[in-house]
Amino acid sequence: MRVLVVEDERKVASFIKQGLEEEGYAVDVAADGDEGATLAHVNDYDAILLDVILPKKNGFQVAMELRREGRATPILMMTSRDAPEDVVRGLDAGADDYLSKPFPFEVLVARLRALIRRGSSARLEALGFGPIAMDRLQHRVTAHGKPLDLTPKEFQLLEYFLMHPEEVVRRTTLLEKVWDMHFDPESNVVDVHVGNLRRKLRRAAGEDLLQTIRGVGLILRQGGHDAG
Ligand code: CA
Repeated sequence: MRVLVVEDERKVASFIKQGLEEEGYAVDVAADGDEGATLAHVNDYDAILLDVILPKKNGFQVAMELRREGRATPILMMTSRDAPEDVVRGLDAGADDYLSKPFPFEVLVARLRALIRRGSSARLEALGFGPIAMDRLQHRVTAHGKPLDLTPKEFQLLEYFLMHPEEVVRRTTLLEKVWDMHFDPESNVVDVHVGNLRRKLRRAAGEDLLQTIRGVGLILRQGGHDAG
């Protein structure tokens, strides 16, 4: 499970990050609204923990922006106890739940868990295509029932392809959805990771599932003729 924490108070952010990591979550932290919106746009989080008062863009703006983009990621808004009107504004902006600061850490974890559980009925916990099966909760992939060892990047790539089977996926789309904002678009890192994933899939599945459509992109499919 991957969570984004958007919080400008360093101490609070690192306290939450550390606590959630101990609970087994992968946690990214953004220190302002701009960075938060960008990270939420680029990565696929299971939930977003969003503070209201933030530099650059406030929490309401970030929530609204994400909903306008069609992002359904569950949002838990961190409001201030002395500003109950923020709760209404937050929910109106697209937050799914709220938590008044300060809060006991166990409450945060419980709310987050509930939110992800509710949200995950829309998200698929298991993905599959042909001989490939992916368990997103356990972070495991098998081919013909045998474990397939992937790097985190290969896992994310495969996840994206499994969510868009038999669809041509452009390299620029992969850059946008699987890589982070520090990525250099001139580098050939996408091709390297795709190439590795492709070889692993071919070896494990016994067929070429990730095929190149020359000049256009890649497609996850069975059969068909590989042009690349
Ligand atoms: Ca703040």
